[in-house]
Amino acid sequence: YSIDLSGRVAFVTGASSGLGAQFARTLACAGAAVVLAARRVDQLKDLRARIEGDGGDAHVLPLDVTDLTSIRAAVAHAETEVGSIDILVNNAGVSSTQRLADVTEEDFDYVFDTNVKGAFFTAQEVARRMLARARGAAPGTFTGGRIINISSTAGLRTLPQIGPYAMSKAAVIHMTKAMAQEWGRYEINVNAICPGYIDTEINHLHWDTEQGRKLVQMLPRKRVGKPEDLDALIVLLASSESHFINGAVIQADDGFAL
Ligand code: NAD
Repeated sequence: YSIDLSGRVAFVTGASSGLGAQFARTLACAGAAVVLAARRVDQLKDLRARIEGDGGDAHVLPLDVTDLTSIRAAVAHAETEVGSIDILVNNAGVSSTQRLADVTEEDFDYVFDTNVKGAFFTAQEVARRMLARARGAAPGTFTGGRIINISSTAGLRTLPQIGPYAMSKAAVIHMTKAMAQEWGRYEINVNAICPGYIDTEINHLHWDTEQGRKLVQMLPRKRVGKPEDLDALIVLLASSESHFINGAVIQADDGFAL
């Protein structure tokens, strides 16, 4: 039993590293044409070469999710150059580590502009086009849309010194439910993944600190995850096999949030 995403177009934000790069590789492996969107275009070109080397179809577009003009341009280009977007992986995100008493307005805006406002307007831009297709399509011909928002276990259960990040990821969870409620009837399913600790750029310096080593000891299997640990989940949520899953908040954290 395998899932085939041939003929589907997937748009992955923040695809230049970590989870985003792996999501893109995995969706391409499953047959989707993948639009790699991020600010670091050079890194995207390397990723495109790797995906093409594996026989996949990948396209590079510059995107800064904190800039609405950039979001609109990237989505419009993707649809003209690659095709109607069937799958959005709303992955771009930033973190910050301050105690709440030290958080400045700048720190707050940095996290919320990317993780909440950026994710919202990216999803809105893609969903508007999906909705237009769903409403215009003859009955039974719209093949459905999939929006996958990347939240975090921090959105469910906060930890010291990541307050604004945790708050932003909790907002992504509620955003997911609101979108699922409004758009689900049009066969646009919106779900959130809450990854646990995964070794990527966002936190890789952390694992060599005393606090990081202590944290690993708290993890159920005393190991930090790898981006590949989410491969099966992303393909399932991107596919038509997940037609009955909408508004779900899925912990993929090896049991950490427990
Ligand atoms: P990462 O730092 O490697 O990836 C984040 C990506 O987002 C980067 O490619 C970065 O360039 C991109 N990005 C940041 N701001 C952007 C902007 N304004 N416009 C476009 N792209 C932008 O870290 P990651 O772990 O791969 O993070 C991916 C997502 O997973 C994030 O939303 C993060 O919060 C979430 N997450 C990560 C972990 C973890 O432990 N690594 C756990 C839970 C959730």
